[in-house]
Amino acid sequence: MTGRIHSFESFGTLDGPGVRFIVFLQGCPLRCCYCHNPDTWDVSGGREYTVSEVMAKIKSCRSYIRSGGVTLSGGEPLLQRDFTLCLLENCRAEGFHTALDTAGSVSLEHSKKVIDTADMLLLDIKSLDDKQCRQITGQGNKNTLATLDYCEEIGKTVWIRHVVVPQLTLDTERLKELSNYLEKYSCIKRVDLLGYHKMGEYKWESLGINNILKDTCEPAKSELEEAQKLFYWSKMR
Ligand code: SF4
Repeated sequence: MTGRIHSFESFGTLDGPGVRFIVFLQGCPLRCCYCHNPDTWDVSGGREYTVSEVMAKIKSCRSYIRSGGVTLSGGEPLLQRDFTLCLLENCRAEGFHTALDTAGSVSLEHSKKVIDTADMLLLDIKSLDDKQCRQITGQGNKNTLATLDYCEEIGKTVWIRHVVVPQLTLDTERLKELSNYLEKYSCIKRVDLLGYHKMGEYKWESLGINNILKDTCEPAKSELEEAQKLFYWSKMR
């Protein structure tokens, strides 16, 4: 089996527990206005790899990732469902811990088997407000919230991610509402607020895409810390 891959990172420390080998799969159905990897959007971009080629790369890093594992990210790894599933199954057969870094943007009917197979999810919630979610990504949040419900139902460990953007999602009332909503899910073991950053802006320019956040500043460290405090309950899990 083959799939299209944007890139690899052999020593990732931010995308799941421990040191991880990260596979960034090509293709994403969303168009987040703060995306720092718009070059992953096109499912026909990147380079084609076989599962065996990817596994050979992962296995060559076995000694670094012993304490961590493998994270399948993107783009949206659920878009190439069968390839992602096959990679997860192979990783598990090799004894690697697996994490799926997803925005849950595809339907559950399509993604259930992949979710079942991963050890945990890093689930990116763009906005609890469906209208704002459409404004940010071009799609509503129905699939993402259904993905979270499914994880709760089957007891799958979830780490939530949420990008905070000044004048958009960096809003105390919205964040309180999100915190209250998430607190009831026992599958959530951690919530990370990620500050919007401008490191990917040059990619938008080089791809000729209109960047509506061109004049938006990155949040201050103190603003991010205050916002993170609203999710205090996740530190006790
Ligand atoms: S889900 Fe991720 S890769 Fe897809 S557009 Fe949003 S930020 Fe970019």
